[in-house]
Parts: sequence; C-alpha cells; structure tokens
Amino acid sequence: MTAKIMIVEDNEMNRDMLCRRLERRGYETCFAADGLQAIEQAKALLPDLILLDLSLPEVDGWEVARRLKAESCTARIPIIALTAHAMAGDRDEAIAAGCNDYDTKPIEFQRLLSKIEGQLPSSERISPAAPSAD
Ligand code: MN
Repeated sequence: MTAKIMIVEDNEMNRDMLCRRLERRGYETCFAADGLQAIEQAKALLPDLILLDLSLPEVDGWEVARRLKAESCTARIPIIALTAHAMAGDRDEAIAAGCNDYDTKPIEFQRLLSKIEGQLPSSERISPAAPSAD
C-alpha cells in the first residue's frame, strides 16, 4: 500500500518541488496552500502523513496542528512541521501544538525522507531499494 502524503505549503515552487520529489520516490501526494484548506483537505482525504509549513495564510501551522489533533478522524495522522525560522522555540511550540516531528527549511530531502519514514508504519514505507534520483 502506497502512503499518501499531504503537503501543506503556501509557496507554490516549494510545494511543487516537494510533491515531485515524493512522487518520484513512490509516494502519493496531495496538497493544500493555506491553513483552512489544510484542515478541510485532511478531513476529506485522510492522508497517511502531513508535512506542515508553520507559516501559512488564513490559519497558521501551529493552529492547523492543534485542530487536526483535536478531531478524532485526523488525530492519529502524523504531522511533520516545516519551518524556515531557525528559532529554538519553534520546535517546542510545534511539538506542543501536536506535531510528531519537525524539520527545517531549506529542505534536505534525504533527511526529511528519513523523518517521514520514521513516522509511517513499516507496511507503508517505500522500500529502501526503490530507485531514487535524490
Ligand atoms: Mn509559508
């Protein structure tokens, strides 16, 4: 079974790049471009994992995480927070808001992949033998 990863990112270039790289790796992807869309789409599509930019229009990433973790249908979806802010407090705030892990931008794809795989059940991970140009 292929895991579906939802990318929540308001920067179109970053979003498209991440979608492409994850799809090339073998994951299914879907996306949201702001916080409200993220909440609606997460409930509608029930992805296996969410990559969540913290700095988002409409509703910020911390609030998105709090709302998804408060809903029974989305509470168990692992969330990896992504932020460009190299602030020490961001990680703690993201975890306090319910995020399961955290990574910083600019994205180092291999590092992010290992965090993604660390959050997915082994049956949903892409095998390490899968071809990857990354
Ligand atoms: Mn952003």
